[in-house]
Formats: sequence, C-alpha cells, structure tokens
Amino acid sequence: MDSSLALPNIDWSGHLSEGVSDDPVRLSPAKSEVRTPKAEPTKSFGQNRSQAFQQLRLDRVSRNFGTAVALAGLDLTIQTGEFIALLGPSGCGKSTALNCIAGLLPLTAGSIWLDEHRIDQLPPERRGFGMVFQNYALFPHLTVRRNVAFGLVMRRLPRKEIRSRVDAALELVQLQGHGEKLPGQLSGGQQQRVAIARAIVIEPPVILMDEPLSNLDAKLRLEMRTEIKRIHRDLQRTTVYVTHDQDEALSLANRIVVMSDGRTLQIGSPEELYSKPANLQVARFMGYRNIFELGVERLEQNRVFLSGFGIQLEGLAGEPLTATRAVTAIRPEDIVVGEAEIGPRSTPPRNLIFGHAEIVEYCGRDYLVDVSTSAGVLLHVRTPKRVAPGDGLRLRVPVERVLVFPPE
Ligand code: ATP
Repeated sequence: MDSSLALPNIDWSGHLSEGVSDDPVRLSPAKSEVRTPKAEPTKSFGQNRSQAFQQLRLDRVSRNFGTAVALAGLDLTIQTGEFIALLGPSGCGKSTALNCIAGLLPLTAGSIWLDEHRIDQLPPERRGFGMVFQNYALFPHLTVRRNVAFGLVMRRLPRKEIRSRVDAALELVQLQGHGEKLPGQLSGGQQQRVAIARAIVIEPPVILMDEPLSNLDAKLRLEMRTEIKRIHRDLQRTTVYVTHDQDEALSLANRIVVMSDGRTLQIGSPEELYSKPANLQVARFMGYRNIFELGVERLEQNRVFLSGFGIQLEGLAGEPLTATRAVTAIRPEDIVVGEAEIGPRSTPPRNLIFGHAEIVEYCGRDYLVDVSTSAGVLLHVRTPKRVAPGDGLRLRVPVERVLVFPPE
C-alpha cells in the first residue's frame, strides 16, 4: 500500500466548501440542490439511507503507471452487503483496484458505477466511502474520540449527534472507556479498531480495507479478523478488503477475487476457490503445494489416469485435456497418512504413495511433513498423526482431491 494515500491527506475541507451532500448516492446534485450536509436523527448503524444501493459495478477498470499495467480490465459486480476480498501476491494490483474504487487513483480506462450513477470521476469525498489502511492513518495528536468524530465534524453534524454516533461506534469496536486516550497510548489492535470506528461512523455505503491486519501479530490478527467478521455481520455494510493472506480471505469474504499481474484469475465463493481453483496459478495461491507433472495414461470423461516417478494417480480434470502430460495439484491436508506396514513396492496401487518423512514441523494441532519417495519426489503433507523424521509412510490421496490441469 502506498501510505501517501492515507486518510489525513484527503482534502475534507474542500469537500465541505463545495457544500456537497453527505448522501453518496445523490451523486450529481444540481447547483440549486447543493447544500451543507443535514443532520439526521441518530440511528443504529446499518440503517442509514446511504446504503440504499443495489450494486457497485466495476466495468473493465484499468490503471497504468507509465507503461506498466497495474490493473488490467477488472470486471466485478458487488451486491450491496457483500464482503469481497481482493486476494493476490504483492504487486498484483489489489491496492490499485481499491484506490481506484476509493477515488484516490484516477482510472486509465473503464468505469465504476453505483447502480446507474457513474462515480469514477468523483473525488473521494463525493463517493463517501469509509477507508481503513494498513498503517491505521490516525491523527496522532487527536484523542480517540476526536479521531472517530473527524468525518462527522467535517460534515458539520450537530454536537449531540456526533457524540451519540461516536459512542455507538466506539461501543461497536469495543473501545468504550478509551475515548480520551491518544492513539500512541493504544496497542496496534486497538488503533486498528479506532480506524475501523472512524470508517464506519460516517455510515458509508461501502467500506474499503487495505491489508488492515498485516501490522498486527499473529494472535491479534486472528482476534481482529473475528471482530471484522462480527462488525460486518452486525452492519451488513458492503466491504471490499485487500489481503495477500488466503486464510483471511477465506474466513471473511462472501466472494474472493484472485488477482495476478493486474489480471483477474478467478472470482468465486471461498468454497469454490478452495475446492475448484480454475487454474494452476489459483491452485498454488490457495495452498495446493503438491504440484507435479505426470504422463497421461488414459482419460474417462473428466477422470484422468496418470503415472510417472513410480507414482500412479487417478484424479479429476476441470477442463478437457489434450496433451500427453498433465499437472496434478494436491493440498497437503488432503493426503491421508498411514504407516507403510507393507513397505515400498515397485508398483504401489493407484493413489497410494510410499515414502519416508524427511522434515517434520510440529504445528500444535498437526504436523507438516516433507515426505520423499524412492524416485525422489518430494510431497508436502499435513497430518494429525505423530510422525518422526525417517518414518516410513503410506500416503493415500482421495481421487476427488487430485486436481488435474493442462501443463503450463
Ligand atoms: P502489495 O500487497 O505489495 O501492496 P498490491 O497487490 O496491492 O501489492 P499494487 O500496490 O496495486 O499491488 O501495485 C500494482 C503494481 O503497480 C505494482 O507493480 C506496483 O509496483 C505498481 N505501482 C503501484 N503504485 C505505483 C505508483 N504510484 N507508481 C508506479 N507504479 C506503481
């Protein structure tokens, strides 16, 4: 993420001097309609009219930096209330996509729509989306209360309204009692809660989060993940969340957009991406660590029979195969470990692989084991079974968990 894009640089006062409505759905008020934001009666979060849209639609959204293509034609229709994760390795264009939605980066091509209103030419403050950044982007000299109140003060809401909305936001992120502290007196997780409170207090139609948990330690990250899930459940706010962590995306999102080199590789539910990655690139990213090329013996519709390196496998192909070779993708946790009582044989039955444990990592609930076969194939296996280096192992792979793809 480019921290220069962080919230304090946004020209909120410019927004106010234009007297633009705080209703982001009313996007192009006629001059006579331009007005200072009006206070609304206090409501619980999630019931504000500003959420009243059906779809946020990205139509071939592209962004170049010079000749470099950071984002190439992203097509995505987000339904109101959805939680979308943009997932991909560093540099794949996730933050660029988020910043284009926020209005912090102009598009090179394409358009962005809230229902029938085109919004990609509006400045960030006219879109009114809430943003949460990796580095929190809090004002260090303002108390927690004043940080959270900032967007409301800029919108010139009455003091009473501001007080009650800030109270409600602090309660939602469970920071009651911390309102008079400065950000520097809070832990990283608490600071991120302040940032979330500040984003939601304006009751934005869309909340944008750019790797909000990556500065936190592993334990806090898990806790805050649950918090974000709870807040989304309570508010049902449309959320776009950037992450490179597949577990975070799987656990939080209704749908995940997997990206690479500025391109969309697959869009689907966590279950779809986990069990049916569209191609090898997505499979790699979704944790299919055992990827190797074998010869194709025969095909029976989508069932593929493969062999090579003393291994015989039957697996399932998602698309028709034409080549004589194919690539299998297997997740470490889909391999079932047993003891090799009968010992390695020259031709083990299909979907059984014999080998011995080389490296064993204890992970608390289970073990991550590198198993090598006599032909030198190295497999990554995750098992609850207690394994020691040097143990002879029999690995069984269920047919439906052997995914087969054309060679790259
Ligand atoms: P990370 O997870 O590391 O933040 P990302 O997936 O969010 O990565 P982006 O920050 O969107 O990736 O960057 C996408 C590509 O655009 C990268 O190659 C990056 O170097 C390039 N890029 C991003 N911002 C700029 C900029 N201001 N000027 C030039 N190139 C940029």
